[in-house]
Amino acid sequence: MINPKVAALQKSATLKITAQTKKLVREGRDVVNFAAGEPDFDTPDFIKEAAHRAIDRGETKYTPSTGMPALKEAIAEKLAKENSIPKEHQQVIVTSGAKYALYTALLTLLAPNEEVIVPAPYWVSYPEMIKLAGGTMKPLPLTAERSFKIDPALLKQHLTPQSKVLILNYPSNPTGVTYSEDELREIAAIVRAHDSLFVLSDEIYEKLLYDGRTHTSFAALPGMAERTLTVNGFSKAYAMTGWRVGYLAGPEKIIGAASNILAHTTSCLCSISQHAALAAIQDTEWISKMQKILEQRRDLLFAGLKRYPKLSPCKPEGTFYLFCDIRETGIDSSTFAAQLLTQQLVSCIPAEPFGQEGYLRMSFATGEEQIEKGIARIGAFLEK
Ligand code: PMP
Ligand code: GLU
Repeated sequence: MINPKVAALQKSATLKITAQTKKLVREGRDVVNFAAGEPDFDTPDFIKEAAHRAIDRGETKYTPSTGMPALKEAIAEKLAKENSIPKEHQQVIVTSGAKYALYTALLTLLAPNEEVIVPAPYWVSYPEMIKLAGGTMKPLPLTAERSFKIDPALLKQHLTPQSKVLILNYPSNPTGVTYSEDELREIAAIVRAHDSLFVLSDEIYEKLLYDGRTHTSFAALPGMAERTLTVNGFSKAYAMTGWRVGYLAGPEKIIGAASNILAHTTSCLCSISQHAALAAIQDTEWISKMQKILEQRRDLLFAGLKRYPKLSPCKPEGTFYLFCDIRETGIDSSTFAAQLLTQQLVSCIPAEPFGQEGYLRMSFATGEEQIEKGIARIGAFLEK
């Protein structure tokens, strides 16, 4: 009865555990939420006010299916100015979250069984989107010894004539690792030598970088604009997860084809959300305030976990996720996360659905008091 491609889909572990955690909190349980894949900050007032004004003006009708021209123009300007991706190489479409940008891109590019190279550990939705789009996923293993960064030589070995897409995600969910421009150039050299390969570069955490690091967009590297689809959105940078604003930017031919998918599946993204995003993108201060707070929280969580000899936390370079090695405890990640939640009311995501055993993903998008409480409870859990 059910399409086998749909029947084969896994539940989203991140959304499932986040929903369970929120339910426990609603029931009045004192849960420390290290599971959340969203900032705990409220959407800034100047963004909400822009949305109110849009409703009052009656901006409540369909917009063009690929987004309001003013928003697309503002995004193209942002990509040119902040990301050095020249406007003439980029068309932009506005999508229902970065999630739908990724899915639309995969649907547009993949012919049946073409391969998608996905560095592992990966964000949980990539494999399922690839399945739905009819492609074949080829995981590219990343190792702690190489700080969970792509080994260019291994990437080269993984490419075959069927390889169509390489997914990059940096700063990375779940590892918090990012790449320097030199490291990206090494990857670009391999992409350049493989004619049929496109890069789908998920840069949704670009604004959340620590220790003074800066972000280089893959499409800004020489020769890569023609081969790269850039994905980004407003969920993480502006605490707008529920507004569902994402975008896909890339060469006109591909984006033109992708536009037809939007016209026939979503019609357009909610007009109010688009007006909110147009206000958000003008911001010059809010993100850096959030980034500074998150950096302090990262330091707190990292230092707290380091005190426990059985845990080896990786220090996040970006995002709000800390990837923690729990192999010394001898417990697998799913059991560890489940027992930590039931025994100590601390919620984390096991790394197994990210394609990596022996680790937990811990989000520090939660207040400092909660982080301290969570660290103490993990200590009590480990003692047992
Ligand atoms: N990419 C990554 C790596 C993510 O962690 C997320 C999390 N939501 C998304 C894309 C999708 O974001 P959204 O659909 O909320 O814009
Ligand atoms: N991307 C976030 C996470 O990894 C939100 C949940 C989701 O969309 O998967 O937790």
